[in-house]
Amino acid sequence: MNRAGAVFLMFGVLGAALLALACGASISRTGGVDGGRDSAFAERRSQLMAEIRASDREISEPVLAAVERVERHRFVLPENVDEAYENRPLPIGEGQTISQPLIVAMMTEALGISPGDRVLEIGTGSGYQAAVLAEMGAKVYSVEIIPALAEWAEKNLRGAGYEDVKQRTDDGYFGWEDEAPFDGIIVTAAPDHVPQPLIRQLKVGGRMIVPVGPPGFYQTLWKIEQTADGVVAENLGLVRFVPLTGEMSAEDP
Ligand code: SAH
Repeated sequence: MNRAGAVFLMFGVLGAALLALACGASISRTGGVDGGRDSAFAERRSQLMAEIRASDREISEPVLAAVERVERHRFVLPENVDEAYENRPLPIGEGQTISQPLIVAMMTEALGISPGDRVLEIGTGSGYQAAVLAEMGAKVYSVEIIPALAEWAEKNLRGAGYEDVKQRTDDGYFGWEDEAPFDGIIVTAAPDHVPQPLIRQLKVGGRMIVPVGPPGFYQTLWKIEQTADGVVAENLGLVRFVPLTGEMSAEDP
């Protein structure tokens, strides 16, 4: 395994521990964040950015700046606010997690977004990744299968000022046909095969970032580019995501 792979593996182990924690926890969505703590959050956010900059992943300035602008403490549960700027996933209820900031930065980098690009996210979760995409200047469309999370993400996104993110509660395996085609698609839950409907919703020149593999183990993160001659896939290393649920196994492999 190369060095980057080892790093993902390490974060993956942490993710697994947290996921186990998330599954057993009963979590309340009430409560809020005290605005008086903003400067402490800003300081922790710049420490987090220093950690991300120190990683051996090449992440460009626009992506770093976008991640830095998003107030992650607005996308975690009230009981986890103090951990919001640690570089690890956190439970968000329903057995799901908000992704690790370094992984969010790395996947955003790999998407290669330009301002104005139409980007589809599968797995809204907390809304954090969607906020980072919005900060990149993308027109963001995000699909979440669990209604309670979709509702919570909407509140988080509106509360943090990301009113333009379009959301839908549905099985994201099938993408968002009415809004296709997209310049970028980012899948933040792992299917066991690449969903063909998503490939069909990519523009020529469009990119999809998707973790693919069996649930409960490591998945391979792929960058899949739609070209005039078919798709080209690049292996970005090992990651650990919650499984993509829904009816996908009934669809085409
Ligand atoms: N991007 C999120 C983290 C995603 S966790 C964030 O930034 O916080 C993975 C999310 O994918 C969970 O919320 C889960 O409910 C959702 N999910 C799983 N299967 C899905 C499917 N078929 N369609 C849409 N969302 C799905």
